Amino acid sequence: MNPSQIIARKRDGAALSREEIAAIVRGHVAGELPDYQMSALAMAIYHRGMDDAETTALTEEMLRSGKVLEASDTSRRVDKHSTGGIGDKSSLILAPLLACCGLQVPMISGRGLGATGGTLDKLESIRGFRTDLSLDEIRDVVERVGCVITGATHELVPADRKLYALRDVTGTVESIPLISASIMSKKLAESLSALVLDVKFGSGAFMKSKDDARRLARSMVAVGRRMGVETRALLTDMNQPNGRLAGNAVEVDESLEVLAGRGPEDLREVTIALAAEVLLIKQSAATPEQARSTLLSHLSSGRAMSKFREMVEAQRGDLDAPRPRAAKSTVTAAADGFVAAMDVEKLGWAIIEMGGGRKQVGDAIDHSVGIEMLVRLGDRIERGQPLVNIFAHQGLQESAARQIEQAIQIAPEPPPRQPLIAERIGEGRDDGR
Ligand code: URA
Repeated sequence: MNPSQIIARKRDGAALSREEIAAIVRGHVAGELPDYQMSALAMAIYHRGMDDAETTALTEEMLRSGKVLEASDTSRRVDKHSTGGIGDKSSLILAPLLACCGLQVPMISGRGLGATGGTLDKLESIRGFRTDLSLDEIRDVVERVGCVITGATHELVPADRKLYALRDVTGTVESIPLISASIMSKKLAESLSALVLDVKFGSGAFMKSKDDARRLARSMVAVGRRMGVETRALLTDMNQPNGRLAGNAVEVDESLEVLAGRGPEDLREVTIALAAEVLLIKQSAATPEQARSTLLSHLSSGRAMSKFREMVEAQRGDLDAPRPRAAKSTVTAAADGFVAAMDVEKLGWAIIEMGGGRKQVGDAIDHSVGIEMLVRLGDRIERGQPLVNIFAHQGLQESAARQIEQAIQIAPEPPPRQPLIAERIGEGRDDGR
């Protein structure tokens, strides 16, 4: 069957066979299938969807398009992926925490996407920190330290790089099977034995509704399991930033607070819950309570902090060099009432406007800018009370303040309380369906 017949079959809603998917992905990576045909297929998938078998075949073919991070023993290899949010810095804490438990975390991370921040951008606010390790260097740091956080090399999953660039310009990014295959092919290239997914929903997340987040989580859990990697997901609330600080250097500062056994409760809670899932999968803990208590002891004893420092040094970073922070100004409440809602994506765009993220590929990042949330959803506030500290350079403070003011809604009644961790997907033998 030629590519145009395969595309037409998907357009008409058929399920594609593994052979058809392999022919398309291999042809595209080899440069034999033109971008316009791959784009047409992406559009057909966007409209018609894919079942779990098709999504797994797509993931597997994308994974096979490049090298993988090989290991003689993959049984200790674990990782976490987050679909992203504002103030989402749990990777910086979770990787050393799991390494303290004798596991190996070869975390290949990304840069900011849309309004959300990127783990690599945050870590690069540490002077000298390298995020461009080669496959050999990644293997070396994982073996020596137990954890590494670095960027994807060009050898890993080239099919995703080519397809993502097309999706970005053809309006096909928001397709659950395409997102699932994109994320899972990159994570499974790490040769993992267990994976936990933080699928965020809400005003600051890629998935605005809990239903969409659940559908994405189920798809990724199904793909992971079909490919022999024990995978679970948590659906977590992103209707307010995670932690108090959002930006780049400020997020490293806040992560260090948590690694020192302090820090904001919501950030600790989400990080510990994700890491605990991994310990339960690996049977390193018998119960959630035991997992939690082990993880908390690594924070309070300073072991997780030492492990983070070891990882930073292995990646040539200097944790003791001062990190930049721009001048502070404060946004205050215009009325009495309760913090009723936050447009968290707008907060993310405000940080990007200040220079903390990219408007275009290749833009430089200003690591010194960011925000500090002084209130949480449901807090009672009085007119004139400080709501948010802004760290921004002169000339950008006023416009940021306006955007932030608009992003925080004050009302006479508090909103209903929502749990931070809304659902667990994939516990037990099935994939949560
Ligand atoms: N992140 C990815 O890596 N891929 C997607 O398709 C969406 C988010």
